[in-house]
Amino acid sequence: MNKVLTHLRILRPYSEPDYMESGWIRLIDGRIAAFGEMPVVLEPEETEINLAGKLVLPGMINAHTHLYSALAMGMSPPSRTPTNFNQILESVWWRLDRALDEDSIRASFQAGLLACLRAGVTTVFDHHSSPNWIKGSLKLLADIAREMGIKISLAYEVTDRNGADIFQDALEENLDAMERYRDDPVVHPMLGLHASFTLSDESLETVRRALDDFPETGIHIHLAEDITDHHDSGERGYQSVVQRLSEYDLIHSNSLYAHGIHITPDDADTLFNSNANLVHNPTSNANNRVGILNGVTLELLGYGLGTDGMQANLLDEARTGALIRSSKMTQGQPNVDYLKLLFENNPRIASKLFGYHLSRIEPGVPADLVFYDYHARTELSEMNWPAHLLYGLGQPDDVMTDGAFMIRNGDPVGIDEHEILKNARITSGRLWKTIEALK
Ligand SMILES: [Zn+2]
Repeated sequence: MNKVLTHLRILRPYSEPDYMESGWIRLIDGRIAAFGEMPVVLEPEETEINLAGKLVLPGMINAHTHLYSALAMGMSPPSRTPTNFNQILESVWWRLDRALDEDSIRASFQAGLLACLRAGVTTVFDHHSSPNWIKGSLKLLADIAREMGIKISLAYEVTDRNGADIFQDALEENLDAMERYRDDPVVHPMLGLHASFTLSDESLETVRRALDDFPETGIHIHLAEDITDHHDSGERGYQSVVQRLSEYDLIHSNSLYAHGIHITPDDADTLFNSNANLVHNPTSNANNRVGILNGVTLELLGYGLGTDGMQANLLDEARTGALIRSSKMTQGQPNVDYLKLLFENNPRIASKLFGYHLSRIEPGVPADLVFYDYHARTELSEMNWPAHLLYGLGQPDDVMTDGAFMIRNGDPVGIDEHEILKNARITSGRLWKTIEALK
């Protein structure tokens, strides 16, 4: 049944027109067919859905996250406070990923994706790791994302740190997903690599050869997140991480590079000329104290925005990112436009990788839409919507993906939220005990 959504305040960040006070959106077969100013004349077979003045935004995209860490919230900190980035990985995240089993992975994916949906995020680029339950983990994620109507990019973090057998299993899990979802419109497989510093030259060569059969597929990797990654490449005889990956033909326009903090001016040129996709994760960078990304580089390379597992809400990520940066800036220095990362750069990156336009309110694009029952204390206009996005909006009341409501008037549709959260609470308690038992 074709639908016309009416009586909407339509916000289209970084598009023209960017704001309509009273508009409508026509949906045909789950896609936006047209939009305009009220009134609208309905075709005989169309159903009107009156949104009664709600504000609508394009569904948001998380360009880098780790759903496997969804059950980490509230777990005990390590017995000794980490003093550097590698200690954080070893004492927290690499113990968590080793402790995951099928049940805790499922609970993490369900609870993590539900939080995304609740925050108005309709496309997620995930970077997964569960070395003791690898085979089938990406299919499990794809299945749960499909049930929730979320478009998902899959990648399993290949690394040497758990030995040669687990390296091979992880590579095969990626290749299996790359084959299985080659033509799937809502699942985008990538070849996941943890980071340069946990991969030998031989392993990078193995990955490069594996990609020969998948010329369209890119990698998804942590890039120069901490200065130690840069130093590691130096010790191996390369000028930088980017230069090392370039040697193995692993810098390209279909790949996703998370963080990209400690890169040289030559690296920035290489990434720019390759049309590579970078993702900024400001709250994670602040939390791990890995440094602050140069603002000029950030704008030059058109970084997208991710949360690196820190939170589900991308508007929170944008606001907090802007505040973290402001705290490092001097008077008179302009900040980076974080909403541009979220509403312009993320859709550009996701559209390129999925192969069709995503997260825009324009004809032909899937109807991934987020609605807010927003009553502001100041007038919202085409001049000041950024402030309302950063400081006014809370959780959306309705979330639609491919033209179907997945959340309607505050309640998930066809998703047993109570059961998912109850199971996640029970499973997380068990997971934390397993983590504590690990060395
Ligand atoms: Zn990450």
